Amino acid sequence: MNVGILGGGQLGWMTILEGRKLGYRFFVLDRNPKSPASRIADGWFPPEKVGEFSRICDVITYEFEHIEEEVLENLEGNVLPSVEALRIKKSRANEKGFLSRLGYPLPRFEVCRLENLEEAVRSVGLPVVVKAERLGYDGKGQYRVFSLKDLGKIRENHSEGESFVVEEMINFRAELSAVGVRDRRGRIKVFPVTQNVHEEGILLYNWTPESSVVEREVVGMVSGLMEDLSIVGLLAVEFFLTETGDVLINEFAPRPHNTGHYTLDGAYTSQFENLLRAITDLPLGSTKLKIPSGMVNILGLSLEDMELEEILSVEGTRLYWYGKEKRDRRKMGHVNVVAKDQETLKSKLHEVLRRIYQKEYSLP
Ligand code: ATP
Ligand code: MG
Repeated sequence: MNVGILGGGQLGWMTILEGRKLGYRFFVLDRNPKSPASRIADGWFPPEKVGEFSRICDVITYEFEHIEEEVLENLEGNVLPSVEALRIKKSRANEKGFLSRLGYPLPRFEVCRLENLEEAVRSVGLPVVVKAERLGYDGKGQYRVFSLKDLGKIRENHSEGESFVVEEMINFRAELSAVGVRDRRGRIKVFPVTQNVHEEGILLYNWTPESSVVEREVVGMVSGLMEDLSIVGLLAVEFFLTETGDVLINEFAPRPHNTGHYTLDGAYTSQFENLLRAITDLPLGSTKLKIPSGMVNILGLSLEDMELEEILSVEGTRLYWYGKEKRDRRKMGHVNVVAKDQETLKSKLHEVLRRIYQKEYSLP
């Protein structure tokens, strides 16, 4: 079986590592032959060779949303999840519009152009988060706006005609997410819900909390949305749990997700293996939790910046190092953590954070 992956980042890298066990061959389409997935694939193709890439693959999936339209138009064959699902996700306006038409609970929002930013902000009501309509990830292209003066920075960084989503700033009690998997026959499984902590718009760590009252609501929305988008493969959904106990959708992603990395060590089947099982018509593996687990992202540090021996001497930890060039705040790797119970898990996460970043964190 030849599996194609659009995008060469760490999500593709882990998909390949997991897929080797199934005996599959992998081909990656990415501009960079040195990207994590390109380096370990059986073959690498630049975007110009999308035709050749398509012809060698029995099935194609993606690990990245922002695939150039030119590549999408020239793909041939079986792309799973569908290119339509990806197109909805590529634009925050389409994504929000889709969710709101189907009645999913969302923060209040408006779509506007740079010229009408102030009007949209007034209509949603301060404070708001302004997000560039396209090409956002890891908090890029996002602005927290507390007063109309804050709009100056957005006007400086962007040009007329560019589109934005302006959304109500949610004072959340917690951020949650869950990754679901759906096979070609429409059978669905959902991995355990995680609680996620972001720093400056980037995921810093997450863990599987004890099951809560909103678990059923979350699982229901993930399953419903997988059907609405006709997903074959994975769908990750991020949520805000508000102060009043409501669950709102922040965004979704039809691909493996950073908040599902813990499944490599904490679940009976990883998100990556289940993606491959779903798109190649194998039975889905159990998404159940083996053991309480979590994950800490390594942001903007190289291996030399850390004392690996100290970090990995915390029992139950495993390192995943993506081999990327170091950049400020970039996701360079992560450490998965498992523990016999919640309390031990929290204290281990705390310890791992401290040993990576050399500072104290107070976990919720
Ligand atoms: P990623 O790709 O890393 O998930 P992203 O760039 O796609 O991130 P979002 O998920 O929209 O962006 O936002 C990143 C983080 O910023 C959220 O997880 C949350 O912590 C914060 N955030 C985003 N929108 C809001 C909002 N409306 N109210 C409060 N916080 C928000
Ligand atoms: Mg997000």
